[in-house]
Amino acid sequence: MKIALGAIMHESNTFTPGRTTLDNFRNTQYLFGNDFLTAHRGTRSEVGGMLDELDEHGVNVLSILGALALPSPTVTRATYDQIKRDLISQLTDQLDGLDGVLLALHGSMTVEDLDDPEGDLLEAIRREITTQGVERLACSLDHHGNITEKMMSSMDLAVGYRTHPHVDQYKVGQMTARHLVNLIKTPYTIRRSFIKLPMMTPAENRSEPIHALRAELEAIDRQTNVVTSSFFVGYPWADTSAQGTSVMVYTRNDQAGADKLARQLSEKMWSLRDQFRFPMYTPAEAVHIGNEHGGGPYVLNELADCTLGGASGDVVSTARYLYENSIVNSVVVGVVDPEAAATATQAGVGQTVQVTIGGNICKKNNPPLEFEGVVRTLNRDVSGHTEIHAGYETAVGKIAVVSGRGVQIILIERAGKFGGPTFLEDLGIDPQKKKFIVVKEGLNPLETYKDVAERILMVDSPGFDPQIPVPEDYTRIPRPMYPLDPDVSWSPR
Ligand SMILES: [Zn+2]
Repeated sequence: MKIALGAIMHESNTFTPGRTTLDNFRNTQYLFGNDFLTAHRGTRSEVGGMLDELDEHGVNVLSILGALALPSPTVTRATYDQIKRDLISQLTDQLDGLDGVLLALHGSMTVEDLDDPEGDLLEAIRREITTQGVERLACSLDHHGNITEKMMSSMDLAVGYRTHPHVDQYKVGQMTARHLVNLIKTPYTIRRSFIKLPMMTPAENRSEPIHALRAELEAIDRQTNVVTSSFFVGYPWADTSAQGTSVMVYTRNDQAGADKLARQLSEKMWSLRDQFRFPMYTPAEAVHIGNEHGGGPYVLNELADCTLGGASGDVVSTARYLYENSIVNSVVVGVVDPEAAATATQAGVGQTVQVTIGGNICKKNNPPLEFEGVVRTLNRDVSGHTEIHAGYETAVGKIAVVSGRGVQIILIERAGKFGGPTFLEDLGIDPQKKKFIVVKEGLNPLETYKDVAERILMVDSPGFDPQIPVPEDYTRIPRPMYPLDPDVSWSPR
């Protein structure tokens, strides 16, 4: 059996200023041929899971393209066109004797003048493979995907992550590959039901509704005739017509069953719509909790400035509170500021510097912080080791740790995957000995700090990933849409 494998993954925050270009992909991953397969083989990435599963079935794996960039602003049209051209030309060259195509997609890319690039891409792939009689196309998807009918109609099958932090990427890669192999080996008629809901979730969601939905999926998957089912909490920080949460159920030739189960799942999701949002603390409240209860470290998580959710990473509101109030023994993990990082690097370790930190990209309620301190450590490109988002390792450029009034701030040249305890250890900082650690990595700290933190507190801050969507930001999304239209009533068709 011959299967062509590729990965095109981007989550585009249309509110963060700037554009994502091919350089952003190259900085993380833009690989062809064996280079792509080698980068993932033996890792816990989604593609790593696909490769292990395909190897187990003795499948001859052909490489198409691996194009991965960290979540960041809207992708330029030229970048998307290049990715599409590269993908199609690699695929066309390998169509002879091919049995199927397997892709790792994200599902929330936005391109200039194109709201549904994954739909466009899948349609082009389907057109291409149909000319050669290749019938099967399956994809894995991030559960932050804003999935569309256009995407659905070009795929035979899709599987979404079920966890956030995404600790099941590898498993979902395996599952998707297994379903595709089974479908090729013993063909059957797939029926699917896809329902889009008029609701957005904050994306960085509380665990309880996710657990409830996962339990529902597990019950659905146990039913006879069901192949697989998924729910998508969507990606709210994109003003596109593709916006919205969704559910999908695939069965073996049972349309009525698929429809009934998808309705049931969508009703469950709708009933939980007001339970996804986290309770937030101000920096002062979070510090008070830490001082009151003792022990540590307390992880103060600025959800709205999550660099893994496409935010800018240059918000300094919690850093300002800590610095202005001399909250000693605290560390701010990762403020993106190329200029301040360069100034500290140029000064050298042991030198006192005055730097203006943050507020370059996020300018709303985020004035820069005037900071005076000593340069403690200089480094570059370390990013910590974590299995979450495996495959997204990105060169972050210069890293400088500056320390003033008992507060350490880690200045970083470019956004990347960092912030876990091993990143601090790589910089000579013992996370266990810190009282307060400020992070900007969405829900990943729930996993990476679970054995380290006394408690993880979600801290309110400015940023491009707000828990409560700003109504004025949206002009293109379908309406009504909860929670922008809080009173909307809905039931599945
Ligand atoms: Zn995600």
